Amino acid sequence: MKLYLLSGGSVDVDRAVIFPGDDSHRHVTLPVMQILIEGDGKRTLFDTGMPPEAAGDTDGLKRAYDIDPNWIKPLMSAEQRIDRQLAALGLKPSDLDLVVNTHFHFDHAGGNALLAGVPFAVQRAELESVQGEAGWWDAPGIEFQVVEDDWSPVTGVEMLRTPGHTPGHQSMLVRTADQPWLFTWDAVYTEEHWRTGKLGAVSDVPAARASIERLRQIAAAEDARLIFGHDVGQWGSLGMGDEPRLIVETP
Ligand SMILES: [Zn+2]
Repeated sequence: MKLYLLSGGSVDVDRAVIFPGDDSHRHVTLPVMQILIEGDGKRTLFDTGMPPEAAGDTDGLKRAYDIDPNWIKPLMSAEQRIDRQLAALGLKPSDLDLVVNTHFHFDHAGGNALLAGVPFAVQRAELESVQGEAGWWDAPGIEFQVVEDDWSPVTGVEMLRTPGHTPGHQSMLVRTADQPWLFTWDAVYTEEHWRTGKLGAVSDVPAARASIERLRQIAAAEDARLIFGHDVGQWGSLGMGDEPRLIVETP
């Protein structure tokens, strides 16, 4: 198995976006991550990054989706579109076997339309939460395969249903020959959230707390290496820049 981190750029946000109630008006940078896993003779992509309208345009989300750049400002180059990140690995969208959306927020499902024609998988609760609405997660040619509870798209990769940030949010445990990797995605945005126990933006507080507790138990039981959803310090320590990077390889 090979696991690549892909760079979808970053967002500049008011701290209150990720720490509700914070009134410091400080701004923080959040990297936007996608993952490509090659295993079982298949290529599976996890998340699709921000909408293409955001590429090279800090007002792109404002124009396309009325997202206020003083609150959430995209910082994304054309090379950080999901199709361009795949191209940097020599891949076309049609080389993918499956796309998994951890959830439908704009920085996780915004590039879905660029991959229309590839099968998508999403939790039933996430799909039901947007029922009848149009948005960046959907486009002609996108067919969602509905998954429920925990499931495994690739041998050694376990998707963990961790609702609370959104109704159908998923985290991911990747087993390797040595230490497993636990990708919390947005159940835990940053190391500061993990350390302090503060919640990020959530749709359901009790569910979010239960999901974090579940991740703590798994992290302890597995002695897992934690990768948070949007931690800029961690992004740097993984050596991430603008290019995709192979970070896990198992025989
Ligand atoms: Zn996010």
